[in-house]
Amino acid sequence: MKRLLVITLLTGVVYIGHAQTTIVRDPEIEAMVKEVNADSLQSYIKSMVAFGTRSTVSSVTDKKKGIGAARNWVLGKFQQWAAASGGRLTAFVDTTTYPADGRRVKEPINLGNTVATLKGTDPTDNRIFLISGHLDSRRTDVMDGVNDAPGANDDGSGSAAVMECVRVMSKHSFPATIVFVTVSGEEQGLLGANYMAKKAKAANWNIEAVLNNDIMGSNNSNETNIINNTQVRVFSEGLPAYELDKQAKNIRQLGLENDGKARQLARYVKEVGERYVDNLEVKLIYRNDRFLRGGDHTPYVENGYTAVRITEMNENYNHQHQDVRTEKGVVYGDLAEFMDFEYLRKNTAMNLANLANLAKSPSMPQEVKVEVRNLTNGTQLSWKASAAGKPKGYYVLMRETTSAVWERKFFVAGTEVNLPYSKDNYFFGVQAVSDAGNEGLPVVPVPGR
Ligand SMILES: [Zn+2]
Repeated sequence: MKRLLVITLLTGVVYIGHAQTTIVRDPEIEAMVKEVNADSLQSYIKSMVAFGTRSTVSSVTDKKKGIGAARNWVLGKFQQWAAASGGRLTAFVDTTTYPADGRRVKEPINLGNTVATLKGTDPTDNRIFLISGHLDSRRTDVMDGVNDAPGANDDGSGSAAVMECVRVMSKHSFPATIVFVTVSGEEQGLLGANYMAKKAKAANWNIEAVLNNDIMGSNNSNETNIINNTQVRVFSEGLPAYELDKQAKNIRQLGLENDGKARQLARYVKEVGERYVDNLEVKLIYRNDRFLRGGDHTPYVENGYTAVRITEMNENYNHQHQDVRTEKGVVYGDLAEFMDFEYLRKNTAMNLANLANLAKSPSMPQEVKVEVRNLTNGTQLSWKASAAGKPKGYYVLMRETTSAVWERKFFVAGTEVNLPYSKDNYFFGVQAVSDAGNEGLPVVPVPGR
């Protein structure tokens, strides 16, 4: 037994890092990444801006202006792309009546999320991977639903990314299901995402990851002239918003404050994004969102799902939540002319690579345990095979307790391994991997006897 494990280690060790990287790109994902197109993204944003305003409190009946026309236009595009999917992609506008709330909604509104679902091909695989952007826009006065609010970057950029992922991915099939959504109501208080997250929880949807894209297509800040189109931020919560009281003891005892599900997803997004997209660095930001601000991933984490926020490296506040105007020679407003569509292409491709890699992966290993019966200076891990998909094997991930990212991957063909590294000194995770190299999300082991 012991000999077998040692052989597995000697033959199967994969180091990730600089010189010894053996991780290769999946050619199917690489081809999809190449198909992501800056001109397509720009054209969607031009169309979105042409609706004048996409305020959540604007008209839902006007055929040309307002959020109703905009969400129907997105639906039309989804349906157009569905034609090439052989019936696997379906789309609709998911509406609900949202009442006056005494905050940012004065009268009851018809709230609507435009949702496309690319059904997975494996009937035994109930996993869902979700990408979200918000279609609604706002003026300086968030209650103004009449005057122009172009919202090219906030969040035309995230909505365009969602649309481009539908266009490219709907021609491919994946074992797991992918849901693409452009929500409304973000600027009014995360209303559309709240509606969707609660609905998902009530229906027990097995959403394993949410990528929320909000403000991701501008490459500069208002304070400096520095252009940065090679970095993008991924925000992830540390301590979980959901049932922290139930998890706190375990987190404290095992030092897992940096190993929650959202943080694992963020690490995954970084690794896979950088694997497939050249000249892009994904920066891990250790907080749920920007300082004291909110976004559509938050209703998901509050309902127990794993969700992160993806946002450009620097924000330009002259072009965010501002009426279009010129003051002292400075142009304010969220206009497409201030965006960088090549940067948006990279950030969109980064999302696509992650969605595809997740949706092609075997499901997570189950009952992942670290043996604690005897005190040893090694780490013995065991798990049960993935329930869905056919894993080629599993990667045991390892990192120093002070490291932000996984530093080593040990390939294991079976479902147990004994590593000569102490569980006292390293963190571990286990993820399933397919023949084509598509990894699932890692699972942190729990103490087992
Ligand atoms: Zn936004």
